[in-house]
Amino acid sequence: MAAQYPVEINHVKARRVVRITWDDGHVGEYALDYLRGFCPCAGCQGHGGDIKFVYVPDAELADIMPVGNYAIMFRWGDGHETGIYTFQYLRSLCPCDECKRQASEHR
Ligand SMILES: [Zn+2]
Ligand SMILES: [Zn+2]
Repeated sequence: MAAQYPVEINHVKARRVVRITWDDGHVGEYALDYLRGFCPCAGCQGHGGDIKFVYVPDAELADIMPVGNYAIMFRWGDGHETGIYTFQYLRSLCPCDECKRQASEHR
């Protein structure tokens, strides 16, 4: 599968989501709690194999920072900013029905 790149990333504060538009036209909306819970850093994920969801209540997004041309870093309201979300990882997290269906078909 070809790598996809986000062309637009918006923090929609009123709805507490991050809206990502991809270069293939796909649009995904990620709730802040959802994004924070899947923070990929070692502090959140430990050293286990599978990515796990770590619920952080009332996650607030303070900043969105690009990392090179392959990833995005989110800074959270509590100062946590060690999670580097590669584009591929972000796309795999897309919570829309279409992506969830594709993910389950690949299993
Ligand atoms: Zn983390
Ligand atoms: Zn999607």
